[in-house]
Amino acid sequence: MDLMEYKAKELFDKYEVPTQKGIVAECPNEIKSLADTIDYPVVVKAQVQTGGRGKAGGVKFAKNEQEVVEVGKSILGMDIKGHIVKKVLIVEKAEIARELYVSIILDRLTKSPMIIFSPMGGVDIEETAKTDPDKVIKVEVDPLIGINDYTIRYLINRGGLQTDLFNKLHGLLKNLYKMFCEYDCTLVEINPLAVTPGGELIALDGKVSVDDSALSRQSDILEFRNSLDENELVLEARSFGFLYIPCEPEGKVAVMSNGSGMVMSCMDLISKEGIEVGVAFDLGGGATADRIAEAVRIVLSNEKINTLFISIFGGITRCDEVARGLKAALESREDDKMVVIRIEGTNKEKGLEVLNSISGNVIPVNSIREGVKELAARREMI
Ligand code: GDP
Ligand code: MN
Repeated sequence: MDLMEYKAKELFDKYEVPTQKGIVAECPNEIKSLADTIDYPVVVKAQVQTGGRGKAGGVKFAKNEQEVVEVGKSILGMDIKGHIVKKVLIVEKAEIARELYVSIILDRLTKSPMIIFSPMGGVDIEETAKTDPDKVIKVEVDPLIGINDYTIRYLINRGGLQTDLFNKLHGLLKNLYKMFCEYDCTLVEINPLAVTPGGELIALDGKVSVDDSALSRQSDILEFRNSLDENELVLEARSFGFLYIPCEPEGKVAVMSNGSGMVMSCMDLISKEGIEVGVAFDLGGGATADRIAEAVRIVLSNEKINTLFISIFGGITRCDEVARGLKAALESREDDKMVVIRIEGTNKEKGLEVLNSISGNVIPVNSIREGVKELAARREMI
């Protein structure tokens, strides 16, 4: 889960990593009403889950209350690498003497957290790594020891920085590391980390990625994620542990399977026939009849979907459970949406018996290809 800058900075505040004072707004009126709560000049920044906003025109300066509304208007709604800007962060503009780079990542090679530091901040770190590899300094952190004085001294020496930055950098990195551990992060990045003319450090930008597998114990991050998705079916599916992914806006076919690889294979074959897929739905493993019934109910409650394509490989998941779940879901519905279903594996024969007893418009098939053929033959009905 990648956090947007404003959320990352909320965490920075909590851990006393210095940031500028700021406000978040979703529309020009909101900017107008908050415009006098902040000191000028300010920086107006698009809030999207992608980097390189500066280059794309998503970071602009404003000198006063009138200008900030104009600038905010021009950034809201902007498309940055496919992300539409729905929020802007407005912060008091910091004076910069120098821009540094710092991040902590979970390094899979050394299996430990790793600090990446560079005296050349504000620019693309991958680019610096290519052109000036000496200027990108990496230090592993032993999780039993954490960050120590010598780590900071090493970074300062190798980075060619003034030793009077020692205390500030030490404090900042210790706090950042604490946050990295406590929030189950896979990445925290500050680029640029500004040194002000007065010798203070300020995180001008912030990027934080939290390990998805740890979200169950990170309730505020979970809440943030849910606040981003407006699609109620996505949220409802998530509450059952399913993955509901909206695809083509005009697609009328939903693809449901137990495993993302099989979902994608089905989608590829269906798309090859020129049929658009509206929803991809991953059941995950070990689905029981009750869960299948919920899944089918959720997908078919999308009014745009009139056809359901199911492919199940029964290992732990039993085919008869799947069939019974489907039966329960379809028989509680008034409409007669078409279902093409392939089941294979554990208890297949029992499953087919159940499928044949369903009164609705169900087409059992023996393979994904056969299912796609059946779908294509009925394309007029879709
Ligand atoms: P990014 O392009 O998505 O990484 O967005 P950043 O937040 O890093 O902003 C891009 C650039 O804008 C930074 O590298 C800075 O040079 C500049 N910038 C951002 N905030 C400030 C600020 O408060 N003061 C000044 N002087 N420049 C800023
Ligand atoms: Mn940046």
